[in-house]
Amino acid sequence: MRQFKYNRQREFLNRDVIRDEQAQLLAEHIEYCREKSPYYAKMCNHVPVATAANSFDILSSMPFTSKDDLSENINYFVAAPECDIRDISFSSGTTGAPLPIVYTENDLRRLAYNEQKAFMACGMTPLDKILLTCTMDRCFIAGLAYREGARAVGASVIRNGLNSLESHAGIIAAIKPSIIIGVPSFLKKLIKFLISENIDPGFVKKLICIGEPVRNSNCQLSLAGSLLEEAWDAKVYSTYASSETITSFCDCEAGCGGHLHHDLAILEIIDDNGNQCGPGEQGEVVITPLQMEGMPLLRFKTGDISQYFDEKCACGRSTPRLGPIAGRKQQMMKISGTTVYPETVFSCLEALPGIIDYYIIAQSHDGHLTQAEVTVSISSDSTLTVETLSNRIAATARVRLPVAIKPYEQVCQQIFPGASRKPVRFFIVDDKETRHEHSGDN
Ligand SMILES: [Zn+2]
Repeated sequence: MRQFKYNRQREFLNRDVIRDEQAQLLAEHIEYCREKSPYYAKMCNHVPVATAANSFDILSSMPFTSKDDLSENINYFVAAPECDIRDISFSSGTTGAPLPIVYTENDLRRLAYNEQKAFMACGMTPLDKILLTCTMDRCFIAGLAYREGARAVGASVIRNGLNSLESHAGIIAAIKPSIIIGVPSFLKKLIKFLISENIDPGFVKKLICIGEPVRNSNCQLSLAGSLLEEAWDAKVYSTYASSETITSFCDCEAGCGGHLHHDLAILEIIDDNGNQCGPGEQGEVVITPLQMEGMPLLRFKTGDISQYFDEKCACGRSTPRLGPIAGRKQQMMKISGTTVYPETVFSCLEALPGIIDYYIIAQSHDGHLTQAEVTVSISSDSTLTVETLSNRIAATARVRLPVAIKPYEQVCQQIFPGASRKPVRFFIVDDKETRHEHSGDN
């Protein structure tokens, strides 16, 4: 059984030690995949025995693993016997069916350690009370990860999940949490509600934001992030992970990107041809999670677009930092020659007072998203017009998009289709006028 014991001194190792440790753990990981994973056993047939001396070279010679590979071969990725599986969560697949992701006892301990490292880096302490506004159930792994991580820190956790504003307000007033974990657009609604109820959440010191960006590509807080920080008078942190890799990248107290946990993953950023991007260059995030048992992966293409920074952080850590997620690769729009991700537009709308909700419908031509229309609902006292909205989006996204204003009920019908687990705000209409939903979740 692996230890996964947090040691603060090990957070500040120098780069040579980090590289040596990664090389050894990667060698063990490759050999584990060869021995236990039916999917990788075949692929590893031709590669030499991995050692600390050659593991990085072997990794870079291996093909990437895409979400399509997972969807089409999910059972071949399971590397642990059924009796060792302790949790089965689901991730969105590419063929319509959710993908079951299995975790062993070791993987769950790794999950807690991973999140403990992330939370300790952003200053969580055993004295903190953490309010979770994301779900613990519905087969998501994220809520469980946050709970286990906070528990490992020694903090107390209030699992109110996807409850109403009224319910959260009652708990906030009664228990006085010091940290809230949630989706930025929900936290924005929550603070408005607290103010309307005359509840002063002055005891909330940190907001740990998930699922939506709060920083621009240079890691500075976006306007939406700044407004959130101001409204709550609490520091905003961003965290990113995926169900398949259970490796999180969470802002440290310096707030300039999420640190890689070097003993838990290898991070690569690749361009469209699969070549490595340098620091600051945008590309697809590829993760090789280390020390995983249930469903080990090699070079997993997350489909998320970001960049990494490798200069030493102001917090003293030498590990690379992952920048904010610009968007999903599949949702990249190229309009009048300008690259735009839905998140950029969403972030702009979130910063505008009077916006209630919104969605984007993009047009696909020959597999490329070349046109898009933004639809919003606004509050009855808002003075926003189609023109001012279009101007604000153009100022942020550097491209002018047509905007429509519709009643809230109509917008809701669009963004909560069928039994959707969460709002869907991005849709693609292809050449044949077929509509696809893109929730963008991992
Ligand atoms: Zn740092």
